[in-house]
Amino acid sequence: MGPGEGDGEGATCTCTLITVNEAATLTYLDHAATTPMRAEAVEAMLPFLTERFANPSGSHRFARSVRQAVDEARDVVADVIGCQPGEVVFTGCGTEADNAAIVGAQGRYGGLGVCVATEHHAVLHAIEHGGGRVVGADSLGRVDLDALIAALDDQVSIVSVMTVNNEVGSINPMADVSAAVRQHAPRALLHTDAVQAPSWLDLREVFPHVDLLALSAHKFGGPKGVGVLALRQGTVLAPLLQGGGQERDRRSGTHNVAGIVAMAEALRLTDLERSTEVERLGALRDRLVDTLLAELPDVIETVPRDAKVAGSAHICIAGIESEALLYLLDEESICASAASACASGAMEPSHVLAAMGVERRYSLGALRLSLGHTTTSADIDRVISVLVPAVRRLRGTTK
Ligand code: PLP
Repeated sequence: MGPGEGDGEGATCTCTLITVNEAATLTYLDHAATTPMRAEAVEAMLPFLTERFANPSGSHRFARSVRQAVDEARDVVADVIGCQPGEVVFTGCGTEADNAAIVGAQGRYGGLGVCVATEHHAVLHAIEHGGGRVVGADSLGRVDLDALIAALDDQVSIVSVMTVNNEVGSINPMADVSAAVRQHAPRALLHTDAVQAPSWLDLREVFPHVDLLALSAHKFGGPKGVGVLALRQGTVLAPLLQGGGQERDRRSGTHNVAGIVAMAEALRLTDLERSTEVERLGALRDRLVDTLLAELPDVIETVPRDAKVAGSAHICIAGIESEALLYLLDEESICASAASACASGAMEPSHVLAAMGVERRYSLGALRLSLGHTTTSADIDRVISVLVPAVRRLRGTTK
């Protein structure tokens, strides 16, 4: 994997660009990389890109009305996270929120960071950059709690464990993680990268266990380039950015008002629809995976369904390479991913599958199909009808 690669970045693209008309005919099963924006979120942001353009930090009436919109968005976000509005800090993206938590804690308190080997690079690289400790995962992609406890001591100032893994969809047991951190590293702050969680889990059940929680709008129908760091009252970090002191000195920089307003609307709808969507998309995911497992021999479901979120269909197909399969899917306008989008173009298995100890003959054929708010039953039919013959073709078999 090369420098600068993250989920959604770094794949070498040799393809021709897609047109607007083609985009309408895509079968999009890559919601873990990014989601299409919800129409309501687009509508919510438009006035702030046009007539309501004032800087919310200004003092005139025009500015104050825009500040009110930011405050209302903050109230919505706080309600969905289950925190106080004053605990919500708007950031430029999920990566920034993760870095603000980790770099900010070490900047303020010194000490060491600890994270799990399956974390997104926004966390993993920030912890490694600070000379921290990286602990192992179990075969289901969750933190190895014994390894975590062994890495905890008084030197540790920040622990970061993701709520939901972006590649395989595993859910970490945040209550157990919290109990371990409070007991074995009492000085440490606990951060969770919850970027992949909002569509599947009630954040109100996550936030009580942690001090810091990161979100990214483009993972739940909001725009790219806006995120949240929820920060428990009394938690003080060294700010990443020096500047005008916005967000109560916690994140300088003029607010991305349109992005913030749209994010709040997308998060509100995601929260409202979560239980029905989990049921609907879970059933579609089950049909997809059950059919693929029945039609294709020597395919494994990477993580069992009771250990992961409803929108995640991650399988490993022996005897093929993911890249070749992704190419055939792409030819048929099906968007999927080898693991995280960043691993596309690389021949090495992802760091997540390596940490889980997935056998190489399986991990080289990893396929992530991630469902989301735009996924329909017809999408599932189409993927099955293309994927099954594509795998047979690559294997040179008829079954
Ligand atoms: N954390 C996880 C788990 C992610 O999936 C992503 C997105 O790829 C990020 C962090 C980074 O978020 P952003 O793209 O907003 O920087």
